[in-house]
Amino acid sequence: MKLALLGDRGKVGRVLAPALEAAGHDVRGIGRGEAIDVEGLDAAIDFTTPEVGEGNVRACLEQGVHCVVGTTGLDLAPLGSLAQERGLVLFHAPNFALGAVLMMRFAQEAAAHMPRAEIVELHNEAKRDAPSGTAKATASLVGGDPAIHSVRLPGLVAHQEVLFGGEGQLLTIRHDTYSREAFVPGVLLALEKLPQLPPGLTVGLDAVL
Ligand code: NAP
Repeated sequence: MKLALLGDRGKVGRVLAPALEAAGHDVRGIGRGEAIDVEGLDAAIDFTTPEVGEGNVRACLEQGVHCVVGTTGLDLAPLGSLAQERGLVLFHAPNFALGAVLMMRFAQEAAAHMPRAEIVELHNEAKRDAPSGTAKATASLVGGDPAIHSVRLPGLVAHQEVLFGGEGQLLTIRHDTYSREAFVPGVLLALEKLPQLPPGLTVGLDAVL
């Protein structure tokens, strides 16, 4: 596919760009301050920041290009409406790591039997938004409005624990992302499934697994 990668020099972008090329895609990197010229491309991928992501995605949709969004903390509903109007796919996964999707599934299953839960999400200090998109998605799957604790420290990548407390017992479901390679297979899968997705917003890797 002919792709644009917005944020190609970021921590995720630096890993994703060569992995997309290695998978046979043609990648046009777009960094801060560079023109968003994506007309004629098959899809755009955004891994930038909560401040600029919405404008980036809007610009890509307005040029008639499907979007895969990794940037978290965006208000995607209006962008979903724009995508729907234009007959384009807008796909977002709060977490592109397969193990994290399984963690969320298992947490949803555990909550049916152990409803008292709290979530601890731990990320690198550079992550701007809190709580994380994954923590919010997990909370909505678990139900009951569980407390979310956000930790931001150097050395961390992306980690989450879902704690279920019961009389005399504690169940912990934990996922650790140690490097940004963890996000590559999820992005490749989303690109592969784009033609099968309906126009408008689709959220979560679950939808393409
Ligand atoms: P990062 O290292 O800060 O990278 C962001 C990149 O975007 C930087 O290179 C930045 O340029 C660039 N940028 C800033 N404004 C831009 C613009 N207007 N157009 C194009 N590029 C622009 O962050 P990261 O760790 O790669 O993460 C990026 C985003 O993805 C964050 O929102 C993070 O939470 C999210 N994320 C999501 C997942 C997932 O699975 N969904 C996984 C990891 C991260 P400068 O260097 O010049 O500032």
